[in-house]
Amino acid sequence: MFENDIKLAKEARLNAWSPYGKYYVGACLRCKDGTTYLGCNVENHGIQSICAERTAFVKALSDGKREFETIAIVGAPVGEEPTVECVPCGYCRQFISEFVDDKFKFITEDNGEIKTYTIDDLLPNHFDF
Ligand code: ZN
Repeated sequence: MFENDIKLAKEARLNAWSPYGKYYVGACLRCKDGTTYLGCNVENHGIQSICAERTAFVKALSDGKREFETIAIVGAPVGEEPTVECVPCGYCRQFISEFVDDKFKFITEDNGEIKTYTIDDLLPNHFDF
């Protein structure tokens, strides 16, 4: 399943809009009901850009999804295949922390090896109330 979600994230990555950073990111968010939501990064010269991870979450949340299992993330400069792992930025880590618990897995691929992380791995002592 993790490999398949990495594959879907790679497909979603091709839809990225990144004329400034020229770095394409794709994400595949898997909900506990088995549905998946894809996301890509969308840059903008005038306002805050949105990362692939938050794109996928916002798509799922706006469809009423609230329970999530995993998110696969891949990224690489435009024109290159993702080979080294791509982990969420600080903004995404805090954003995602509101919707997941420590069972949720972040999935990356690093030189062909699947790696997983929990929110506590990526953002220990995250803001919560
Ligand atoms: Zn981000």
